[in-house]
Amino acid sequence: MTTVGHLINGESSTPEGRTQDVFNPSTGEVSKQVALASKATVEEAIAAAEAAFPAWRNTPPAKRARVMFKFKQLLEDNSDKICEMIGEEHGKIAHDAAGELIRGIENVEFACYAPQLLKGEHSKNVGPEIDSWSEMQPLGVVAGITPFNFPAMVPLWMYPAAIVCGNCFVLKPSERDPTSTLFIASLLLEAGLPAGVMNVVNGDKEAVDTLLEDKRVKAVSFVGSTAIAEYIYATATKNGKRCQALGGAKNHAIIMPDADMDNAVNQLLGAAFGSSGERCMALSVAVAVGDAAADTLVAKMKEAMKPLKVGAHSDSSNDFGPVITKAAQNKVNGCIDSAEAQGATVVVDGRNPSVAGFDNGFFVGATLIDNVTPDMDSYKEEIFGPVLQVVRVETMQEAMDLIDAHEYGNGTCIFTRDGEAARYFTDNIQVGMVGVNIPLPVPVSYHSFGGWKRSLFGDLSAYGPDAIKFYTRRKTVTQRWPSAGVREGVSFAFPS
Ligand code: NAD
Repeated sequence: MTTVGHLINGESSTPEGRTQDVFNPSTGEVSKQVALASKATVEEAIAAAEAAFPAWRNTPPAKRARVMFKFKQLLEDNSDKICEMIGEEHGKIAHDAAGELIRGIENVEFACYAPQLLKGEHSKNVGPEIDSWSEMQPLGVVAGITPFNFPAMVPLWMYPAAIVCGNCFVLKPSERDPTSTLFIASLLLEAGLPAGVMNVVNGDKEAVDTLLEDKRVKAVSFVGSTAIAEYIYATATKNGKRCQALGGAKNHAIIMPDADMDNAVNQLLGAAFGSSGERCMALSVAVAVGDAAADTLVAKMKEAMKPLKVGAHSDSSNDFGPVITKAAQNKVNGCIDSAEAQGATVVVDGRNPSVAGFDNGFFVGATLIDNVTPDMDSYKEEIFGPVLQVVRVETMQEAMDLIDAHEYGNGTCIFTRDGEAARYFTDNIQVGMVGVNIPLPVPVSYHSFGGWKRSLFGDLSAYGPDAIKFYTRRKTVTQRWPSAGVREGVSFAFPS
């Protein structure tokens, strides 16, 4: 059986040591093993990155960007292969994997702007014959730790920007679907990136903790669940590193009585059930304002969900695939059980769907639960499955208070025809990414991605302009070249 290894200093390696099963979630079978890097292996990757740094930081930004142009082309040329790799280990249907990859490639396109983004600021004559400028210097070795649900896109949020800023990178992908991530990183070498600038170590907590503790690592970008994000942020910052740690979510959509209900239903279908709800921006709660809106929404959703098809990633006529593991399947089913036990109404029940030919796959069908209340466990936690819960409220303010009271603040959206209501909502809601009649307001690559509250620990969001700030530090130089013969006298006053 294949073992997915590491990429260190431009070489693939699979040292002896611990391994873990990688599943094909559509069949429920173990398809591969993944190597779990030891402390020594991670230290080797850090050393390779550190050794590559002096030459890479002095490589002109335009030359660094040229690697990204080639990388983009290679990603496009290998798109079908990458989507198949994602499907086999994550379970995403090809159309969804292709969407993920395109959003990832957009971050490579952003990195191609590097020379423009790194120009810095210059001021002439800040004093007599004195000029001053600020430049953005790379940090050195930086690390990324990524989740299973976007094995291509989320790593691409991080390392193209980090590398093009002049840093060297060590990536620790999710051990649950590592193949596409490793393959994509190898394309960077094919694009001309020098050995050691980009390294990938597969692994678990041992690898992560090594990255968090090693003094040579200057910054850590993390995306994953909130409990781990909080741990990463606390540990990395305690060890003197810059850190951004993006966590979990519970994204609400407000359905106003004046909304175009058919449009809202279409949007909710994709946003709640696409990728089996395993997206940090998945819409998992519809907050209907008024019983009339709630009744219409539930009736239309129930009807619209009838043709939805859950099934294997290999059949592109399916709408969405399995969840990632047996444990994830049990957890999602458990959340539906608990909502029902606590008094909610399961309108469409996706527990234990039958998928012909794939009896052992980790499938959960699209599920709609009505009359959910904020005290229910299924409302409080992130389900991360194809489950849409409906909460009924009387007013828009009540809906907004509900969203603001939730521990997460990643994404949200309002469906309405009322511009005044929409403006009030976008202005006041305590959430980082907000949509108006847009169910998944994922910012484009030249903006930045980040939630509020317990969805993001740290000051800077992922990708876009914030990534350039995160992966560089400012140095300000003040310089005088006095004209011949000009000498300043001695002064003990503060220079002004
Ligand atoms: P996870 O937290 O289990 O794993 C993320 C990474 O952390 C993996 O690389 C994993 O190996 C590592 N990790 C896990 N346990 C660890 C531990 N005890 N110590 C050190 N490292 C550890 O997350 P996941 O299940 O892979 O991904 C799903 C979660 O990610 C969801 O909560 C989802 O909302 C979140 N997510 C958030 C965003 C965002 O932008 N906010 C984007 C994608 C996913």
